[in-house]
Amino acid sequence: MAGIYLHIPFCKQKCRYCDFVSFCNRTDVAEAYMACLLKEIEMRGKELAGKTFETVYFGGGTPSVIDPKYIYAAMRQIKKCFALSARPEITIEMNPGTVSEQKIALYKRAGINRFSIGLQTAIDAQLEDLGRIHTVREYLYCTSLLRGENFSADVMLGIRGQTKEDVKKTIEIAAGSGAKHISMYALQPEDGTPIYTDYLNGELPDGDEVASLYDYGRELLAEKGFYRYEVSNFCKKGYESRHNLNYWKRGEYVGLGVAASSFFSGRRLLNTTDLDEYMKCILSGFYPVIDNEEVSDRDARFEFVMLGLRTVYGVNAGEYRKAFGSDWKQDFSAAYGRTRKYLQEEGDVTRIKDEYLFVQNQILSEYVN
Ligand code: SF4
Repeated sequence: MAGIYLHIPFCKQKCRYCDFVSFCNRTDVAEAYMACLLKEIEMRGKELAGKTFETVYFGGGTPSVIDPKYIYAAMRQIKKCFALSARPEITIEMNPGTVSEQKIALYKRAGINRFSIGLQTAIDAQLEDLGRIHTVREYLYCTSLLRGENFSADVMLGIRGQTKEDVKKTIEIAAGSGAKHISMYALQPEDGTPIYTDYLNGELPDGDEVASLYDYGRELLAEKGFYRYEVSNFCKKGYESRHNLNYWKRGEYVGLGVAASSFFSGRRLLNTTDLDEYMKCILSGFYPVIDNEEVSDRDARFEFVMLGLRTVYGVNAGEYRKAFGSDWKQDFSAAYGRTRKYLQEEGDVTRIKDEYLFVQNQILSEYVN
């Protein structure tokens, strides 16, 4: 399986916790950027002729902030330059503060069949505190335009002052709006973002509080029929994100746009994070790649185990043997021995016990060396 990722790096305003490559004062170059993206699609399409792709994902940034005609044109170029499978999953991320009926209609005409919406919290004061541009009412308007569609809602944990009641309200609104998929993830205060100061001042919930909110949220989601298939991802049966599953299964993907990363033909590539440099490279006919590395056998084994343990699908010993010709528990015998009490075995499959999935980073860190 293989996927295509397109990075749309524009936002209306920078959220206080955001350290993604996104620019809130550069929409003036959106047209030029999207023209470069079309060119990069063509370049990579030629190089990867013969591969079939099952998923396309417009992420950002805020893909819904730009004129939808650019998304339409990008999709037309993707269909022209890449071979897509019979029923591809095509997702776009949307910020509820940037949607309209016309935009959604054009996305659908472009073939987009999955929508990922950043709700984060159903408490307006918390949205404002996070620097989000939208209100809960705007989220509800956005989802009213998506009735019957396959859409996902993002829910954030670890917001200043967040209580279990707030989490309950947020999950009720997300599930009640018709989302088939909910990503519930913890806020990571990154150095250099405004929210990092709140973190240093001790104003954000600590790790134990976030873990307790997570456990509470997980129970509520289960009650509402959302099963967990990855630490932060819950869905109704059959609505798993195929695009993300491909990442976790070490499938190939091609990343297009500024700061996008790729993994294909045994190599990992990273595009420049500098918007102007990206456009200059493309206009000169070069790939804007700043890092191009062959994945060593050791790293490939490590990635296989790490990615497997992140999901409820676990590490499959048979698949590992088929890929690498050895037993993963022997290859990682020391780490496996140290983490065994957190793992459960079922035939060929080893996974992290349900109750430890949220603290998986400590467990996975044992496998780093
Ligand atoms: S909308 Fe997303 S990408 Fe844009 S600033 Fe906020 S968190 Fe960052």
